[in-house]
Amino acid sequence: MGSLTKTVVFLCVVSSVLCTPFINQLQPGQEWPTRSSVRQPYNQAESESAEAGVTKNEEIVVPASDDKEKPDTDDDKPIETLSDEVERIDYTGAQVWKVSTMKNNAQRVINQLASEKLIASWGGNHSTIDILVKPKALENVTATLKTKDISYYVMIEDLQQRINEENPPLDENELELQDRRGHRMTWKQYHRLEDIHGFMDYLAKTYPSIVSVKTIGKSYEGRDLKMLRISDGKPSNKAVFIDGGIHAREWISPAVVTYFINQFAENFDVESDDIKNIDWYFLPVVNPDGYEYTHKTDRLWRKNRKFGYGPSSCTGTDLNRNFGYRWGGKGSSSYPCSDIYRGSGPFSEPESKAINDFFKSSAVKFSAYLTYHSYGQYLLYPWGYDNALPPDHKDLETMGKLIAQAIQNTGGSSYQVGSSSGLLYPASGGSDDWAKSQNIKYTYTIELSDTGRYGFVLPATYIEPVARENIAGVRVLARYLGKI
Ligand SMILES: [Zn+2]
Repeated sequence: MGSLTKTVVFLCVVSSVLCTPFINQLQPGQEWPTRSSVRQPYNQAESESAEAGVTKNEEIVVPASDDKEKPDTDDDKPIETLSDEVERIDYTGAQVWKVSTMKNNAQRVINQLASEKLIASWGGNHSTIDILVKPKALENVTATLKTKDISYYVMIEDLQQRINEENPPLDENELELQDRRGHRMTWKQYHRLEDIHGFMDYLAKTYPSIVSVKTIGKSYEGRDLKMLRISDGKPSNKAVFIDGGIHAREWISPAVVTYFINQFAENFDVESDDIKNIDWYFLPVVNPDGYEYTHKTDRLWRKNRKFGYGPSSCTGTDLNRNFGYRWGGKGSSSYPCSDIYRGSGPFSEPESKAINDFFKSSAVKFSAYLTYHSYGQYLLYPWGYDNALPPDHKDLETMGKLIAQAIQNTGGSSYQVGSSSGLLYPASGGSDDWAKSQNIKYTYTIELSDTGRYGFVLPATYIEPVARENIAGVRVLARYLGKI
């Protein structure tokens, strides 16, 4: 052993820190950079003060709207899920309506109908709300809205029919291709979790120098929370985190995120430097239990599948109300049967906790966090917890507009840009607010297509067009990050 080598070994023994590779200097496909030597435990108070490096006083507060007028903000009121534990929920005869909420009393009427379990909210903005009307309630709800002079129109005549037509089997050609490809994933169909995870493992095996897969935790029912990284290992690379499938029924989201993975991994050699200069972290299915449940039992399940204890014994927590920044505020419910139930405490759910733990233990400094949902065609930036804006909201607006423009130029879809509380309604405990509180500057919730014609039940033929226009948005973000 030469004297130089001896010295290095000696130094390594004396101080393992010195021998810990610097961030991003690890071999791609090998160990991911951890934060073992960097203190940054999650801490509510610490995060609040660290909130984008400013104090609350510096936030620009926009005028608050009347929260009581917003259906999803009505704490402790159940939003009917139409779900129980029987085999495959049948939505025959159920309809989806778009209801105008411009009249003063409209929101109150909708809330009342929801509390009577006649309808369920599918979401809305300041002028309309989409509601699912149960078959037996059609007459009653029609009469109520007519009496109150509230206008609406029917978007979906028979929900079950749409569900039946949404995800047809692959044709012969595709099936043959599937066999030859080494994985079963396509973007012509919504796939089960097994296919998605198989596809991720296939990429890691096929491109070990740039792709690696890591299970960052387990879901409540024990499924893997599988994350995939694409990186050529350059120390100067920036990092972007992209997730999907927080809400089980929003099938277009994991489909779009896996499309990104496929494009970047399969074409990495010929990708632009904008893409190669970023370490990409993808978690396409944050809520695998819910996702599988929507395939097997209830197509319209939203939450995770954590068993509900207590007198209500309702199952599931809304993972996008369970993140630990300003947890428990507006637009979330403490009622376990609600579709926006926030859980028993911040990060009480294994799925959201796994993401938090990953960030806590990772040494990566992320420049952007994108979380894909559906539907509505919105690019939303923080804050969600209340009608407030972060101090760098103009940067977020500018970037958001660039992404929206790229989407429109590519596929023609129009995405509205704004803060989630301002454009929609306050919702606390979202992953985007939490990501922003972790000092990730470019944080967006992207509500994918459509604007209500199909809603959550978007036919599989839309996967490729929606993904194609959205990857154009991601490319613009990558280019922009390369310049700053
Ligand atoms: Zn969602």
